[in-house]
Amino acid sequence: MGIKYIEEFRDSKIAGKLIRAIQSECTRKLRLMEVCGTHTMSIFRHGIRSVLPTEITLLSGPGCPVCVTAQKDIDAFVEFSRLDNLIVTTFGDLMKVPGSGSTLAREKAAGADVRIVYSTFDAVNIAKDNPDKEVVFCAVGFETTIPTIAAGILMARAQGIENFSIYSANKLTPPALAALMETPGVEIDGFILPGHVSVITGTRAYTPVFEKYDIPSVITGFEPVDILRAVHMLVRQNESGVHALENAYPRAVAHEGNVKAREVMDQVFELCDASWRGIGEIPGSGMGLKPEFREFNAAEKFGMDLEEVPEPKGCACGQILMGLKTPEACSLYKKKCTPMTPVGPCMVSSEGACAAFYKYNI
Ligand code: SF4
Repeated sequence: MGIKYIEEFRDSKIAGKLIRAIQSECTRKLRLMEVCGTHTMSIFRHGIRSVLPTEITLLSGPGCPVCVTAQKDIDAFVEFSRLDNLIVTTFGDLMKVPGSGSTLAREKAAGADVRIVYSTFDAVNIAKDNPDKEVVFCAVGFETTIPTIAAGILMARAQGIENFSIYSANKLTPPALAALMETPGVEIDGFILPGHVSVITGTRAYTPVFEKYDIPSVITGFEPVDILRAVHMLVRQNESGVHALENAYPRAVAHEGNVKAREVMDQVFELCDASWRGIGEIPGSGMGLKPEFREFNAAEKFGMDLEEVPEPKGCACGQILMGLKTPEACSLYKKKCTPMTPVGPCMVSSEGACAAFYKYNI
């Protein structure tokens, strides 16, 4: 198609052509999962669900970092905020996520020193400006964010900042896709793979999952034409029976990804097991600090090792993140659970499926 400029990825004529192609070529029921929360929001913002044939169901996946953060990790953030002489630094989306007894927002209102930051560097600078206090950063991110967290730690070490540490709840995308494919009851006919994450990982990161499960997979961007193109490619793969791992976002994603960013990440972090909300523990799906960076490990520094706790009663976040349910199937949706009174993280995060359904009145 030769699309070159960003306007063309919003072009109604090109979008219309793709919509007509999808409508005419799709002959079967398809359940396609957009893995990334940013895709979920973009799909709603551009009304993409409404132009797809009824045969196609779009499911939100486990690609919203706040949504997949385990309850025990949220509880740990709250516990940190209750320690004396300690500043908790966090991305804004985490503030209202309910732990089992409180939220960071509630603790802040009660007097805790909880500060919203826009990068790990901000958190390091807060530590630098407050040498008489400890500063803990709530590290919740995927491959897109983890290199910047690593760079923040390298900066803290280079500047000799000893009162800074992180609690790592970082996660990797491909192991979650493999875990989904192994989960009984999960029915997915294709993955719309995340754009931002893939900029770092490259197409190569998904090869093992694709080869093991032979699942149609397309990496794409966030404009309407990007998403429609990915859906069209997935329809074609399903209709033809010729499955592939394709890249519909070549203007940003290379096969090798961002090697430099991964080197920085691997300098500081190493693979570890991680707990995912609703999915449970997935081996090798987290990124924990390497032993040589243990002085930055807040869990060790403050002896924070909490047990996993059950998720809020009635909350279906876990099933939604696995594509087993959609938000309106949750008995609490729009009743007990609203953006003003969120029960689960999927209603809090700006990338959460429940928040998106609510915002667009579904
Ligand atoms: S509507 Fe609320 S309670 Fe239900 S799954 Fe979503 S976040 Fe959880």
